[in-house]
Amino acid sequence: MRKTLPADFLSLIEKNFPKDFLQRSEATCAQYGDDWSKTLTIDAAAIAFPRSTQEVSKLLALTYEFNLAVVPSGGRTGLAGGASATNGEIVLSLERMNKMGEVDVLGQSLHVEAGAITELVHQHCEAAGLLWPIDFAAKGSSHIGGNLSTNAGGVKVIHYGMSRNWVLGLEVVLPNGEILSLDSALEKNNTGLDLRQLFVGTEGTLGIITAAILKLTRPPESLQSFFFAVKDTASVFQLFLEARKGPFKLMAFECLSEACLKLVETKMSLLSPLQTRGGAYVLLEAEVAPSDAVREAQEKWLEQLFTKEIVLDGTMSQSPREARNYWAIREGVPEALFMAGYVHKNDISVSVSKLEGFITELDTLFAAEYKGIETYTFGHIGDGNLHLNALRPDHANLESFQKHCHTVDEKLFQLVKKYSGSISAEHGIGLLKKDFLHFSRSEREIEIFRGIKKLLDPKNLLNPGKIIDPL
Ligand SMILES: Cc1cc2nc3c(=O)[nH]c(=O)nc-3n(C[C@H](O)[C@H](O)[C@H](O)COP(=O)(O)OP(=O)(O)OC[C@H]3O[C@@H](n4cnc5c(N)ncnc54)[C@H](O)[C@@H]3O)c2cc1C
Repeated sequence: MRKTLPADFLSLIEKNFPKDFLQRSEATCAQYGDDWSKTLTIDAAAIAFPRSTQEVSKLLALTYEFNLAVVPSGGRTGLAGGASATNGEIVLSLERMNKMGEVDVLGQSLHVEAGAITELVHQHCEAAGLLWPIDFAAKGSSHIGGNLSTNAGGVKVIHYGMSRNWVLGLEVVLPNGEILSLDSALEKNNTGLDLRQLFVGTEGTLGIITAAILKLTRPPESLQSFFFAVKDTASVFQLFLEARKGPFKLMAFECLSEACLKLVETKMSLLSPLQTRGGAYVLLEAEVAPSDAVREAQEKWLEQLFTKEIVLDGTMSQSPREARNYWAIREGVPEALFMAGYVHKNDISVSVSKLEGFITELDTLFAAEYKGIETYTFGHIGDGNLHLNALRPDHANLESFQKHCHTVDEKLFQLVKKYSGSISAEHGIGLLKKDFLHFSRSEREIEIFRGIKKLLDPKNLLNPGKIIDPL
């Protein structure tokens, strides 16, 4: 039974907003009330579809007055339950706020509304010869507002860093409806606390991002992709070391296990570009200067990987289409996993120099704890970030499988803590990882976060229960 909203509130909505502003059908609530993690029981009271910052502000002023909780929702591709409504909240979807301004070529920036889809922003910038470099498999559905609220990473972090590096300005609506303009688009501004960054990566718990000025850059001139088969983890790291010293600028260093490759081949009908099978595969992308001398240096670099027996096999893309095929394999892994069934996911990080030791211990842990359960590991090795997936066997009961994964998580996060890593490198904490936050953040850090939350959201109405609980 869905929560009923106060009659006075509903009549004010009817009076002050367009007819289609607040929708309450069961189907709409189910669709907009959840993210792609799809593991929580959803209970959304209504979905609001504002068209402007003013409407967001007016709505929040009302929900504040009536003490109603609000969950911000972007493209809902999040995997931590951050955009999921589980307690009768009103979901505020930004999808109608998707306008993009003209690209400022001189300032290398772009004003966008929060609901602009990431991939459309890429295309809009590309037409002006520029790039917003946050790139990942869910870009066709995710929103800029969601990317900033999760501080999204992606496949090029090794070169460009995370979303927080690519925002110059923000417009934010606070839980009481107040509009905060942090959008002066200044590259340099040393006047104290950078308030913009409070709203980046805090998963909509402090304010609703309604617009942003994105920082852009020139795209790389010439890209070269390589796909390698290697024997084992040790070889992945030998190859990474060689790549760090290679005659190019490293743009991506991605890895997937043999199990991941097999899954992509079966579920997505994609084929490995290599005949040779290995224990793991590496997709390396580099920016190369288009000159004969560089090409020669690159070929030599490639040759020595074989003579030193670092790789079992490897290939270099001869066309953008071939490069896209390599990427389809790597980016197909999450989709293939969705197709395979219920998958318990983790996305952890440790510093790159400690990653090899971590993986050795992780392999031992998973072999002992996930007996008879298929696990799939892939990720952004160059950023120290691994995506760990355990697939529920057909015969296993969902609840007992989830329970088992939860106990394995405790051990996994102990290990992450031992290596001073993070329990969430990209996907965030949301609801699903909240119980484990203490493995990555000290009690004092959590207390400070609670204090900031209390200051900006004293009634705990915005995305309540996400990341932290109030005191
Ligand atoms: C196949 C796949 C691949 C992925 N790969 C990556 C990857 O490589 N790197 C990575 O970082 N992530 C990845 N993700 C996770 C996800 O796509 C990102 O976290 C993305 O940035 C979420 O954007 P969204 O618009 O879908 O946000 P949502 O899922 O809608 O929301 C995410 C969080 O942000 C809040 N929020 C959304 N919009 C706003 C707003 N305007 N103001 C305030 N709060 C808001 C929500 O309440 C929620 O807490 C992947 C997901 C999938 C399904």
